[in-house]
Amino acid sequence: MTQQAPCDVSSTIQPGQGQRLDDPDRLAALYRFAVLDTPAEEVFDRLTRLASRVLKAPVALISLLDHRRQFFKSSHGLGEPWASLQATPLSHSFCQYVVTSGRPLVVEDARQDPLLRIRFAIEDIGVVAYAGTPLITDEGLYLGSFCAIDSEPRTWTDEDLEVLNEFSALAMKELDLRLQEARERAIYSSISDIVLLVGSDLNIQFVNQAVTSVLRRSIDDFVGHPATVVVHPDDRSNMTELFAIAMTARMSDASLEVRFQHGNGDWRWFDLSCTNRIHEPSIAALVVTARDITERKEAEQGVLTALEQQLMANSELEHSNRAQRDFISVVSHEFRTPLTSIQGFSEVIRDEELEAEEIQDFANEIYRSAERLGRLINDMLDLDRMQFGNVTFLQKSVQLNGVVQEVVRSLERVSADHILVMNLDPTMPEFMADRDRLIQVVTNLVRNAINYSPGGGQVIVSTIRENGYAHLTVQDEGLGIPEEALETIFDRFTRVRTKEHKSVKGTGLGLPITRQIVDLHGGDVWVESTLGVGSTFHVRLPIASSA
Ligand code: ADP
Repeated sequence: MTQQAPCDVSSTIQPGQGQRLDDPDRLAALYRFAVLDTPAEEVFDRLTRLASRVLKAPVALISLLDHRRQFFKSSHGLGEPWASLQATPLSHSFCQYVVTSGRPLVVEDARQDPLLRIRFAIEDIGVVAYAGTPLITDEGLYLGSFCAIDSEPRTWTDEDLEVLNEFSALAMKELDLRLQEARERAIYSSISDIVLLVGSDLNIQFVNQAVTSVLRRSIDDFVGHPATVVVHPDDRSNMTELFAIAMTARMSDASLEVRFQHGNGDWRWFDLSCTNRIHEPSIAALVVTARDITERKEAEQGVLTALEQQLMANSELEHSNRAQRDFISVVSHEFRTPLTSIQGFSEVIRDEELEAEEIQDFANEIYRSAERLGRLINDMLDLDRMQFGNVTFLQKSVQLNGVVQEVVRSLERVSADHILVMNLDPTMPEFMADRDRLIQVVTNLVRNAINYSPGGGQVIVSTIRENGYAHLTVQDEGLGIPEEALETIFDRFTRVRTKEHKSVKGTGLGLPITRQIVDLHGGDVWVESTLGVGSTFHVRLPIASSA
C-alpha cells in the first residue's frame, strides 16, 4: 500500500478526501463485510498484539466506524469497559478523522492540541499520543483505521507509520478473506446441486449443505463414508468405475445417472458429473456434482409408459381387426355351406320333375341345413350375450352327478359304436349353479368326445370332489388334438384343421360357449390330449357357495 502523508490535526476536523461517516456507499461496504458486532477473533487479535509490541505502544486497535460509533474488531491493551464493549461513541473516537480525511492521523500529544476536542478519549481512554492509518476497501471506501495509542506524549516516526500501514493492509486482507468466504458459503448454501469432494481412497471428504434440503440427510451421513454410501446397490459399481476412470485417465469431466436414497427411503435420480482435481493441491480430490433429475426421469418414464400403452393398444387393435376379419370369413363360410345346400336343393325341387320321395329327401336336406343355420345363429347370439353380460344365470342348488346322468342318458342313443361310462363321486355335494347351462357344458363335451372319436371307443365321464371344487372330466379315445391347438380351440370358430377333424361337421362355437359358461360360474376349463390317442377335457367349478 502506498503511504499517504499524514494529515495535520486541524485538517482532520474538516473532512477532506475521505468520506463522511454517513456516506451511504461507505456504510453499505461496511455492512457487506458483516463484521460489526461480531466477537473477537484470534486472527485479528494477533495483529493488534503484534502491532502493539512492534510499535511499543500500549494500545492497538482495529476500529471500524459506522455513523454513530466506532466498533473494535480487535483491541489490545484497552481498558474496561471499552475492551468488553468493543465499542465507544464517536465522542471518544480519533479514528473517525482517519475515515473523514482519508489519510493517516498522527497526534503527538492530544492534550496540547487546542483543535482536537476529543476530551472523552483523552480522559476516559487515556489517549495522549495517537497514530492511525486507514482501512480502505479495493473500491477506495474507508471503513475505519488501524491505530496505535500511547498514554504518554510521543513522536511517531515515518517507520512507525509504515508499520501501521502494513498492519492496516493485513487487517484489510483478512476482512476481504472473510467476505470472500462468507460469499462462497452463501453461494454454496444456495446451490441446489449436491457437491462432494471425493478423495483418492474414494471416501467423501466434504459435502455441501444441499444434502440437507435435497436429500433430507445430514452432512455426517456423507463425510468420512465411501462415496457410494447412499447410492442404489445397482448403481454402485458404475459409480466406482466412473471414479476410477476419472482418476487414472485424469479425465476432466465424466458423467453418469445414479440413484441416491432420500432420507424418507425413496430413491431419487441424480445426474452425476465428476471432475478430477486430485492434482490441485488446494483441492486434491474428485469434485462430484449431483443434480436431482428425478422429475425429468419420471416425465421420461411417463412418456415411455404412454408410448408402450399406445403400442399395446395398437397391437390389440390390430389383433382385434385380424380377429374380426377371421371371424367374418369363418362366419360367411359357416353360413354359406347350409345356404348353398338350401339354394341347391330348392332349385332342384323348383326346376326338376321329381318323384314325391325325392322331394321329401331334398326337403329333409333343406330342413337340416336350415336347422344348422338356426343353431349357428342361436349359438352366436348366446355367446355374445354371455360375453357382454346380457344374460342372467339361474343360480340354484344343483347336483352335478344328476346333470351328468341326464346328459349321458340322452346321448347314449346317438352312436352304437361308443360306450359311455360314468365314474361319479358319491360325495359330490350340491352347489349353486345354472342347471341348464351345466347341461349345455356336459352335452358339448360328451357330444364332441363322440363326434371326434369316429372309430368309436369308450367315453368316460367322471366327477370328483376336491378342495372346494367339483372336477368334471370327459375322456375319449378319439382323434386327439395337436399341441398347438390345445388353447386356440376355445376361441370362436376355431377348429382343428386335420382331414379327420374336418370330416366331422361342426361350427367351432361349442367350446367357446363352454368356456364362457364355466367362466361365469367362477371355474375353469382346459384340455389334455395326445394326437391319435385321445383327449380329456377338464372342468373345475367352485362349490364353496354350496347350498
Ligand atoms: P365344433 O365341434 O362345433 O367344431 P367346438 O368349439 O366344440 O366346435 O370344438 C372346436 C374344435 O375342437 C373342434 O372343431 C375340434 O377340432 C376340436 N375338438 C373339440 N373336442 C374334441 C375332442 N374331444 N377330440 C378332438 N378334437 C376335439
